[in-house]
Amino acid sequence: MPQSRLANLIDGRLQPPANQRYLDVFEPATGAVFAACPDSDARDVAGAVAAAQRAAPGWASTPLEQRARLLQRLADLLEARLDAFAALESRDSGKPVKLARSLDIPRAVANLRYFAAAILNWSSESHHTELGSADAAALNYTLRQPLGVVGCISPWNLPLYLFTWKIAPALAAGNAVVAKPSEITPCTAALLGELSLEAGFPPGVLNIVQGTGPGVGQAIVEHAAVKAVSFTGSTATGARIATTAAAQFKKLSLELGGKNPAIVFADADLSDANLDTIVRSGFANQGEICLCGSRLLVQRAIYREFRERYLARVRALRVGDPQDDASELGAVVSKAHFDKVLGHIAQARGEGGHVLCGGAAAVPTGRCSDGWFIAPTVIEDLPNEAATNQQEIFGPVVTLIPFEDEAEALALANGTGYGLAASVWTRDLARAHRFAAQLQFGIVWTNCWMLRDLRTPFGGVKQSGLGREGGVEALRFFTEAKNVCIRY
Ligand code: NAD
Repeated sequence: MPQSRLANLIDGRLQPPANQRYLDVFEPATGAVFAACPDSDARDVAGAVAAAQRAAPGWASTPLEQRARLLQRLADLLEARLDAFAALESRDSGKPVKLARSLDIPRAVANLRYFAAAILNWSSESHHTELGSADAAALNYTLRQPLGVVGCISPWNLPLYLFTWKIAPALAAGNAVVAKPSEITPCTAALLGELSLEAGFPPGVLNIVQGTGPGVGQAIVEHAAVKAVSFTGSTATGARIATTAAAQFKKLSLELGGKNPAIVFADADLSDANLDTIVRSGFANQGEICLCGSRLLVQRAIYREFRERYLARVRALRVGDPQDDASELGAVVSKAHFDKVLGHIAQARGEGGHVLCGGAAAVPTGRCSDGWFIAPTVIEDLPNEAATNQQEIFGPVVTLIPFEDEAEALALANGTGYGLAASVWTRDLARAHRFAAQLQFGIVWTNCWMLRDLRTPFGGVKQSGLGREGGVEALRFFTEAKNVCIRY
């Protein structure tokens, strides 16, 4: 029996779905149902878009300070409930509560605060145009106007973190929002919707419609009044959304999958702390972060020694109850994803890969004995062209690949259809710059991983996406640039 029934937030009111249907929400650590998520459809989306259309003009003309104040208030309310949100995020997604407390929810607070401040500090361009004589000129300036109603669709791996990463800039820039979190992890977004009422957002400015991709996401993308869609999720869904949106010339921001390399040169500073970061870059959040380095390229001169030190650390990672602060990995998000990741490991064995550690489900005792846990897995002896090294697995699985020199490392790193993030470990500064310029990825970290500054452009190339989020890039996406030219 579900313990809590979530609602949609439409026009400032918490509402059941029009069809009264609900989806089961599972706790991955136990495999049990613990909540019910509205299985909304196009009718609910139509209601949300209509409410957003009514709210949009008033919100667009609300002074920046007031919009920023409401976002700050929402951030304060969220921060005051950080522990409760972290517990809920962990229960819904399977991630260790320690991670939700230290990463997911603080980052959601930071997203709201960052864009509240950014909108107050944003300026647009102006160009003085000379017209050939001393007394004839023109002033061009750029107006950045909100789009009206925009759609925000987010995935399950960093539920509230990525949900707020979209709605915060959309709202700050003056748009009314129709947002859809993942139906697999709907809980914290639903609770944030309730907080938005407490914060005092006007009705219809933020609408949250819960449900599946085909049922709700597709209806948001198809709706003619939705002027832009910001999407984070898989490459396959991104392609479907792009196809649907193309006919209506909607603005699109697509943050998609990755198959990221971590490249370790023989001259790298492999201190314990750096090795811990390299391990984390593969296995944080059970490897369910789009930025995780799932292909670990290691220079042959240090390969054997590195492998032993790395494996010792991976074997020592504690997989267990996400509620236990000692757990470093929790459960993967769903039974379907659990089966998918184990299927990839079987495929790797079939391709001739040698499993050096892990390679199977992990079975914690007690409360979590029926949960969906996978032991951190390291595989070697697979060529870069193997499916295991080309397909996104999105689980606790890392492959080790040796390389001889810079040229081979670069070819291996770039030898993927994806292009989200790469990390490079070297003491050679010139090489670090060379690699940063030549790697075909949207983000390159050197001697670090997932070190984020919210002002920087965020996004991928190739099949990892289209457009950039973060900083002014997000504010630009959620506004239309208008050129005004005044001759004088
Ligand atoms: P997904 O594509 O299955 O779903 C993402 C969201 O899209 C969900 O809310 C889903 O309901 C919705 N959706 C599904 N079909 C839709 C449709 N036809 N129209 C509109 N919306 C639809 O992805 P997922 O499994 O939830 O998330 C994992 C994927 O997300 C991985 O590929 C991962 O790499 C990627 N990801 C990318 C980034 C990034 O910043 N590049 C960040 C996190 C996750």
